[in-house]
Amino acid sequence: MSEECVFCKIIKKELPARVVYEDDNVIAFLDINPVSKGHTLVVPKKHYRNMVDAPDEVVAKVHIVAKKIGIAAMEVLGAKGFNVISNNEKVAGQEVFHFHVHVIPRYTGDELHYDVKGYKYTEGEADEVAKKLNEALK
Ligand code: AMP
Ligand code: ZN
Repeated sequence: MSEECVFCKIIKKELPARVVYEDDNVIAFLDINPVSKGHTLVVPKKHYRNMVDAPDEVVAKVHIVAKKIGIAAMEVLGAKGFNVISNNEKVAGQEVFHFHVHVIPRYTGDELHYDVKGYKYTEGEADEVAKKLNEALK
């Protein structure tokens, strides 16, 4: 637990939230500033800074709940699909430093898009990058 953490406060019921799912390990509630109808945050009850610090089983549990919520949004909100996203560290857009994943229901014609500029590999760079990552993951 972290004293000032907004998600810890929601978990301790010290702050209100529109909770859509809760079990012993995970809570999910509507994002206060949604990018689409039903935008939900899935949060482990134990405080971890982000996915880097969270144990694998916590990462797995959070994603299993994210799947359930995405499917529920397709069943009852008219969503035709969903994105599951986690922002890890400031450079990636993380603002709340308590691990969470966003479930963003997607609707036909919603025109949500990431502001992707793309990245062009230089000659031979993609091979080098794949090799480095592959080595790191052995
Ligand atoms: P991130 O950029 O991944 O750290 O996203 C943090 C998310 O938490 C943002 O989408 C905020 O809108 C959301 N958020 C912040 N405070 C609250 C709150 N009290 N209740 C619900 N969502 C919140
Ligand atoms: Zn916290």
